[in-house]
Amino acid sequence: MTHTDKRTEVNNFCSICGYPLGNYNPWGGDGKTPTYDICPCCGVEWGNEDYTSESRTEYRNKWLADGAKWFEPQEKPVNWNLEEQLKNIDHETDG
Ligand SMILES: [Zn+2]
Repeated sequence: MTHTDKRTEVNNFCSICGYPLGNYNPWGGDGKTPTYDICPCCGVEWGNEDYTSESRTEYRNKWLADGAKWFEPQEKPVNWNLEEQLKNIDHETDG
């Protein structure tokens, strides 16, 4: 059995909304050097509101309750599907 860490893959996702970031890692190569950029989808500031699993859940719930509005609406794909995108999130606290 080989154990692979998904976080080392090129596909990075926003930890709040699951927005695909490609090879852009908002937490830096070591996962500890946040860029403090803003997610175009949920508007989270990486390294700030997504610092702990509690703050991630809190921000996500707030964002969803507010109608899952895009921070940069011009970036929103025509066929965007919130439920599909949310599947990209690691639910580390499930269970
Ligand atoms: Zn996001």
